[in-house]
Amino acid sequence: MSKWHVNIVSIFPSIFDSFISTSLIAKAVADNVISIDIFNPRDFAVAPHLKVDDSPYGGGPGMVMKPEPLVHTIEFIKARDRETRTILLSPGAPVFKQNDAKRISNYSSVTFVCGRYEGIDQRVSILSIDESLSIGEYILMGGEVPTMVCIEACARLIPGVIGNSQSLLEESYSSNSISEYPHFTKPRTYRGLEVPEVLLSGNHKDITTWRKKYSK
Ligand code: SAM
Repeated sequence: MSKWHVNIVSIFPSIFDSFISTSLIAKAVADNVISIDIFNPRDFAVAPHLKVDDSPYGGGPGMVMKPEPLVHTIEFIKARDRETRTILLSPGAPVFKQNDAKRISNYSSVTFVCGRYEGIDQRVSILSIDESLSIGEYILMGGEVPTMVCIEACARLIPGVIGNSQSLLEESYSSNSISEYPHFTKPRTYRGLEVPEVLLSGNHKDITTWRKKYSK
């Protein structure tokens, strides 16, 4: 059993192929620290038409994701993963912040539901969704990129995903007194710009004072 299980509901599952098979997410999956399952609502669409979208009642542009394929997909997930927290990605919802990443990384199982087209039938939210989140005040084509944003932000907080857990203590939005500060690596001089002398001094007290001074 992994420490954090993620289900993704998307009609375009291949968008996640390289995301899951690259870098730290791939390593976390290989190490069984996190596990990810992807479900395509097209596999749960209702015969005879097997449609996942339809025109909106009341008129208007675009298509709306039909309720049955989404509700059936989430019911299927819940039948095997009863405790999963269902999260709909939605541009008008409260904006996902670092505190949400912390909170969501503490659920043992999370299900991200990706909308497409004009969005999803409201009854899916009523029947199957625990909370909705936006990644910012702009409109993307679908919930897949927002889902990747949320997974990355949460996954790096799961013990074992980031190599050096100290990194999590000293960064933007951390509760530590020193948050993100300017970083430098080799070479010591680059295009006439010198690394601040104090960082070369080996004096940890002075380095901490400098980092506090320049932390954002
Ligand atoms: N008609 C919707 C509106 O005006 O709010 C926009 C729908 S958008 C084209 C299609 C899907 O992309 C949404 O259902 C949602 O899942 C996802 N999406 C788009 N922008 C997003 C954002 N900023 N945060 C989270 N999800 C977003």
